[in-house]
Amino acid sequence: MKKVAILGSTGSIGTQALEVIRELKDKFEVVALAAGKNVEVIKKQAEEFSPEVISVKDENSASELRKIFPNKKILIDGIVDIAKEVDYDIILISVTGISGLFPTLEAIKRGKTIALANKETLVTAGDIVMPEAKKHNAKIIPVDSEHSAIFQCSPSGEFVKSLLITASGGPFLNKTKEDMKNATKAETLKHPKWNMGNKITVDSATLMNKGLEVIEAHHLFNKSYDDIKVVIHPQSIVHSAIEFDDGSVLAQMGLPSMHLPIQYALTYPERVEGIKSNSFNLAQIGTLQFSEPDFDKFPSLKLAFEVGRQGGILPAVMNAANEEAVYAFLNDEIKLLDISEITKQVVIKTQNIKNPTLEQILEADKIARKSAKELILSLKV
Ligand code: MN
Repeated sequence: MKKVAILGSTGSIGTQALEVIRELKDKFEVVALAAGKNVEVIKKQAEEFSPEVISVKDENSASELRKIFPNKKILIDGIVDIAKEVDYDIILISVTGISGLFPTLEAIKRGKTIALANKETLVTAGDIVMPEAKKHNAKIIPVDSEHSAIFQCSPSGEFVKSLLITASGGPFLNKTKEDMKNATKAETLKHPKWNMGNKITVDSATLMNKGLEVIEAHHLFNKSYDDIKVVIHPQSIVHSAIEFDDGSVLAQMGLPSMHLPIQYALTYPERVEGIKSNSFNLAQIGTLQFSEPDFDKFPSLKLAFEVGRQGGILPAVMNAANEEAVYAFLNDEIKLLDISEITKQVVIKTQNIKNPTLEQILEADKIARKSAKELILSLKV
C-alpha cells in the first residue's frame, strides 16, 4: 500500500485523483486531505477515504469538521504541516497558486515522491526547486498531461534532444484576433477538449497555459528553450512527444482525460488497469493535425518564451500579473486581450534579478500583483 497525501483534494485534479484511488483501493491509502473552503466536498471525501489528517482554510470549516470527525486531526491552512509531518509515500500537490511551492519544498527536504500538478512551483522557482530535489533525492513526477507524456516517453530523460509540447489551441484557434477582442467569458470558458478549472481554461484560451508549461518543461527535463517546441494539435490525442539524439520521435497518445496522467504519477513505475476510459481507436479518430502556433494572435505564448529565456524573477512576475489579470477578466473587469497586455506591461517595467532567492521571488510576485492591479483599475469600465 502506498500512503498518499492530497493537497487540493476538492479541485479538478484532486477529485479526479480520488476517483483514480477509488478504483485502486488495494494499492493506496489516503492519509491526508487538504482543501480550501469546500467543506461539503471534503467532508464526503473524508467519510469515504478516512484520512488521519484533514486541512481546511478557516476556523469555521475546521470546527464543523471537528464535530463530525472527533478522532481526526483537523488543521487550519495546514498544507505545509501535512507535507512536513504526515507519514506519506507520495504527495499530490494539486493546490493552485504560488502557495503550492511551500509544501513542495518541505516534501523535497524529506526526500519524498511528489506528484506535481501545481504549475507555479516550477514556473516561479524551478531554479531553486530542481537542484533541491536532486540534493535530497526527491522524485518529482509531473501530473500535467504534456509533462506526463514526455515523462512516459522517457522517464530517465537519457538521449532526449528536444521536446514537442502539444496544445489544443483552445476555443479561439479558428477565430480571428478581432473575434478575440470581443470574446465573452462564456466563449472563453468553453474549451473544446478539456474540462478544467476556470483559471486554467482562460489560460488555455490565451495560450498562457502553454507558455507556463514550456517554462515548467525547461526545468523538469533540463532542456534549453531552443529545444522546446510548441505545436498546435486540435484533436488533443498526442499529449506531447520527444525527439531523441538520433532523430527518432516518440509520442504518447490517448483520449483527452486527466485520469491517466494522474494515475501514472501515483502508480509509477507500475502501470495498472485503473479507471476504464473509452477505448482508444486510432481508425475512429482518423485524422491528427499539427500546425505552428500563431505568436501574433497569442502574445502570451511569445512572452512566456522570452521571459523563460531571461529567467530570474521574470517568470514569477509574469505568472503573478497574468493570474491577477485572469481573475479580473473572470470578474468582468477587463477584456480577454487585456490579460496579455497587462501581463506584458508588468514584465516590461520589472528590473530583473538574476539567481534570485526564494524571498526575492516572493517579493517580486507581490510587486507584480500590485502593478497588475493598478493597470486593471486604469482599464476598468
Ligand atoms: Mn496541460
